[in-house]
Amino acid sequence: MSLLELKNVHTYYGHIHALKGISLRVEEGEIVTLIGSNGAGKSTTLRTISGLVKPRQGEVLFQGRPIHRLPAHQIVALGVGHVPEGRRIFPRLTVEENLEIGAYLENDRKVVQQRKEEVFSLFPRLYERRAQKGGTLSGGEQQMLAIGRALMQNPKILLMDEPSMGLAPVLVDFIFEIIQKLNREGRTILLVEQNARLALQIAHRGYVLATGEITLSGSAKELAQNPEVQKAYLGEE
Ligand code: ATP
Repeated sequence: MSLLELKNVHTYYGHIHALKGISLRVEEGEIVTLIGSNGAGKSTTLRTISGLVKPRQGEVLFQGRPIHRLPAHQIVALGVGHVPEGRRIFPRLTVEENLEIGAYLENDRKVVQQRKEEVFSLFPRLYERRAQKGGTLSGGEQQMLAIGRALMQNPKILLMDEPSMGLAPVLVDFIFEIIQKLNREGRTILLVEQNARLALQIAHRGYVLATGEITLSGSAKELAQNPEVQKAYLGEE
């Protein structure tokens, strides 16, 4: 049984048919990447998994259980963490308060404290800035906070939407190292990235999305060597 499976998922925004029958699988322990151009439906795929938009047709199974009709907070509670595009941290709350909100489903203060310590050991910078308002953090720090907030719920799978967006190269490298570290520690990752080259370097497998449909899939190595992928997404001739 796959940890996550989408079967023929169709998602609409009003009349816009954003996902046109997406089927994909993510096995426990994998990093799987979704690549594709702007507007291909990558974010919509993540939003459909986490229940922020509801599919009109098809199924989303998590640990074999259909979740596509559940409200988003129940999907979070099952172990699906979402690090949204643009980070969406709470700008007027401190770093520490942002993290605590990430653990809103957890009643045990000790557990919350322990998770916070784990996040701070992953991102010492967040510890230094713990009393600072989220809105005053740099882009890289906000990305760390968005990842940290999702980790506060101890998710089984992390859905990551464009974590490298707008970051300086050195920070992109840092965030990608963190993704690999989280994966080595046993976390499954579904990674949406514009930076297909980097994503394919760290992923086990990938899917290529174009106008709401999956056009290619395979091991990250196969995709990186595929001439169509090289031309369209890796900037090679
Ligand atoms: P990007 O990297 O630019 O975010 P994407 O691959 O993540 O691209 P989506 O954001 O999933 O693409 O968008 C898929 C399609 O759905 C696009 O045609 C987009 O214009 C449309 N869309 C996305 N969000 C909405 C919305 N809230 N209302 C209407 N249409 C939307």
